[in-house]
Amino acid sequence: MSAVSAAAAFDAERVRADFPILGQQVNGRPLVYLDSAASGQRPLAVLRAVERYETHCHSNVHRGVHALSQAATEAFEGARERARRFLNARSTREIVFVRGTTEAINLVAQSFARPRLGPGDEILITGLEHHANIVPWQMVCAQSGCTLKVAPIDRRGEVELDRLLGLLSARTRLVAVAHVSNALGTIVPVKRIAEAAHSCGALVLLDGAQAVPHTAVDVRSLGCDFYAFSGHKLYGPTGIGVLYGREELLEEMPPWQGGGDMIRTVTFEKSTYNELPWKFEAGTPNISGAVGLAAAMDYLESLGIEAVAAHERRLLALATGELERIPGLEIIGTATHKAAVLSFTLRGCHPHDLGTILDTEGVAIRTGHHCAMPVMSFFDIPATARASFGCYNTEADVHALVAALGKAREVFG
Ligand code: PMP
Repeated sequence: MSAVSAAAAFDAERVRADFPILGQQVNGRPLVYLDSAASGQRPLAVLRAVERYETHCHSNVHRGVHALSQAATEAFEGARERARRFLNARSTREIVFVRGTTEAINLVAQSFARPRLGPGDEILITGLEHHANIVPWQMVCAQSGCTLKVAPIDRRGEVELDRLLGLLSARTRLVAVAHVSNALGTIVPVKRIAEAAHSCGALVLLDGAQAVPHTAVDVRSLGCDFYAFSGHKLYGPTGIGVLYGREELLEEMPPWQGGGDMIRTVTFEKSTYNELPWKFEAGTPNISGAVGLAAAMDYLESLGIEAVAAHERRLLALATGELERIPGLEIIGTATHKAAVLSFTLRGCHPHDLGTILDTEGVAIRTGHHCAMPVMSFFDIPATARASFGCYNTEADVHALVAALGKAREVFG
């Protein structure tokens, strides 16, 4: 199906009915939820899968011989297989359950980078990263003496590819890049970057937090070594996410956290470690979270990720066109390829005040630095207002946003 016909066939009103939370009123107005980049809402299918698990299957995983423990283990490991299929990873040994993108990146920083990197080695990121893909590398640099390099972005919010390629050298050991920027919506040409990084002998981590709800991800075709994402951006629960890592790499990496489940044997003299992926999953995991995440993947794939993406592109184009016509409004982030994120400022109105006024109209947007302070510094602004779209948003939501912005302009005249 072409993108155009997929969008036309997409029935967002029907999708919306799957999300009970969206049926409520906020400040006496129907809720218009435009904050999916911060956290997506959950469809009934996810809520019910979690409820079913909690009601009928819950126990601790891996350790029990009784029926409930086996049911919980089956549900948890079934979710791992679901995530493997979602990413087209080769093996479930490559799927590590973590709390979210942040934990996934910290795991790679501490278990992959810290033991191997030292003075003279470089980690390369870009100017549009979320703090979760900056700070863990700064910590590793402080711990190991390696250096953090940053490829700049341009005024449209695109990574300057030539400059990034120019920063790659034999010293580069790891390139860590967002697949999609949360602050600006820029879709980064990560496949091209991965090819260039590999040709210099560097490994590649992709921060997929903002990509997975909008695009089908195939880690093998992207050619990345690590891929990180959070369940809650994907219409799944909070507190669960995935780190994909190539098996050969994970195999060589030492465990990050120690404790139950990640061991094979323990004596006071020495412990030996479990095999992949459990070597990286110390302690009782978020079992119902994994179950919910698997249900979210089923749900999104039942809608068709391409159809969702086409629908969101249509909303983004509509909203961009409408907002461009508002006097004093400036869109921040005008990359050629963007996901469903629209950051903007309104002259004379601090983004936080704007967010508050929009909230009184029932319109939920996010305001602030979006955990991307360097992006704000680059554009020389303290913050933006950000509307972001998900599978359940409609044209009516865009019109409600525009109307609420009209009210804000009246207030701030
Ligand atoms: N990277 C990006 C691009 C994000 O948008 C986010 C969440 N805003 C994160 C990383 C961190 O995700 P989490 O808080 O779920 O760990």
